[in-house]
Amino acid sequence: MFSNLSDRLEAIGKRIKGKGRLTEDNIQETLREVRMALLEADVALPVVKDFIAQVRERALGAEVMKSLTPGQAFVKIVHGELVQLMGEENDALDLSTRPPAVVMLAGLQGSGKTTSIAKLGRLLREREKKKVLAVSLDVYRPAAIDQLQRLADEVGMDFHPTDPEADPIKTAKAAKEAARKGYYDVLLVDTAGRLSVDEAMMSEASRVHAAVEPVETLFVVDSMTGQDAASTARAFDEALPLTGLVLTKTDGDARGGAALSIRQVTGKPIKFLGVGEKTDALEPFHPDRVASRILGMGDVLSFVENMERNVDQAQAERMAGKLKKGKGFDLEDMREQMQQITKMGGMDGLMDKLPGMGQMGSQVSQQMDDQQVRRQIAMINAMTPGERRKPEVINGSRKRRIAVGSGLQVQEVNRLLKQHKQMQKMMKQFRKGGMKKMMRQLGGGGGMPPGGMPPGGGLPPGLGGR
Ligand code: GDP
Ligand code: MG
Repeated sequence: MFSNLSDRLEAIGKRIKGKGRLTEDNIQETLREVRMALLEADVALPVVKDFIAQVRERALGAEVMKSLTPGQAFVKIVHGELVQLMGEENDALDLSTRPPAVVMLAGLQGSGKTTSIAKLGRLLREREKKKVLAVSLDVYRPAAIDQLQRLADEVGMDFHPTDPEADPIKTAKAAKEAARKGYYDVLLVDTAGRLSVDEAMMSEASRVHAAVEPVETLFVVDSMTGQDAASTARAFDEALPLTGLVLTKTDGDARGGAALSIRQVTGKPIKFLGVGEKTDALEPFHPDRVASRILGMGDVLSFVENMERNVDQAQAERMAGKLKKGKGFDLEDMREQMQQITKMGGMDGLMDKLPGMGQMGSQVSQQMDDQQVRRQIAMINAMTPGERRKPEVINGSRKRRIAVGSGLQVQEVNRLLKQHKQMQKMMKQFRKGGMKKMMRQLGGGGGMPPGGMPPGGGLPPGLGGR
């Protein structure tokens, strides 16, 4: 997400950070570039204008001019204004009401409502231990109800059956009654969408709303529609009292204009980002983290959270203990790390969250893509336990055997061994603090200082070892 914008702003940031002194002239010049970058990212024009005006005012103020590192101070201002633009803080779902708390999702056809219901159901069940019921009111598309039922089964939430012949308003009421009787915490209501905003859809949505009285009414919008996303959201908000937005398909959106405009245009907070097709691909929206990501500072906190959810704690401790005792980081350890990566949704999901990765750019993601990770695991699997523990014994003939055994080339075995060496070196540097301390350092203090991470130095072992 945001890769184009991020590349542009990162380059601009780097250039200005290098300048010892800022003048009105080079600030103007830089602001012009930022403006171009935002417009190319499809951020709405009025939003861009306000944004640039704010940044200019602050940049010409004393805080930058007097700063010892004016370039960095400038980047910090841009960061701060991006955060402001996207709504300051994470707006979580507010489910505080007498249960069942009804959450209704509305939006155009294909925007990702049904998928988002499944993702939300999973998140509420897994992270908040809620008892969740889902109902589909999309009686116009024959497959829509089955789709939700299938997804509900997949994520383990209950499903209230829908009679496609019945009036959706009636079904909605019946589902709420069933949720009350069944002591559900949350009822998720999936609604019908159409290809464009139309009268009939709006009036049905508002009748459903009146019938189930949701505590949250979320507008689901495809981020790839760019500026249109913001205007559709506004049209919906006129008919329905929206409490927030779910921005979907951000994984395919290189521009990011919708994420930057929509809050300002609608006044509604983005609550979640859809980041993939699978049911775990939903992230709570944190403006500060996204701003850091856009500026190439990496989204360290989301990364750490993801890590904490997925990393096998016991295994991490075991590895830390082993390293502390002065034992080396061997190929068994490397394999474990690689397996963790695949558990955490693969390299793609991790890459754009890590600081410095934007700069290291496509080179890294090309070399360290998911296929590469799988290949590395395959090569390590093809070794004997002795080779894994003492890679130095791997000579030419062993390399050939490993290559044949894993169906790969000798060069790839060489690359693996070289990478392992680099990781080993890095692990040595981290040895003193161990895994835990390192993770703390990674997440320390919230916002990353611009340029405050040594290149690659902020990466946990196994992720940056190239
Ligand atoms: P609905 O008509 O609003 O209910 O939309 P669906 O939930 O059926 O989604 C339409 C399509 O978008 C499906 O193919 C989904 O897999 C896909 N989709 C939904 N959310 C995301 C997302 O965050 N990322 C990606 N890549 N695809 C998504
Ligand atoms: Mg649907």
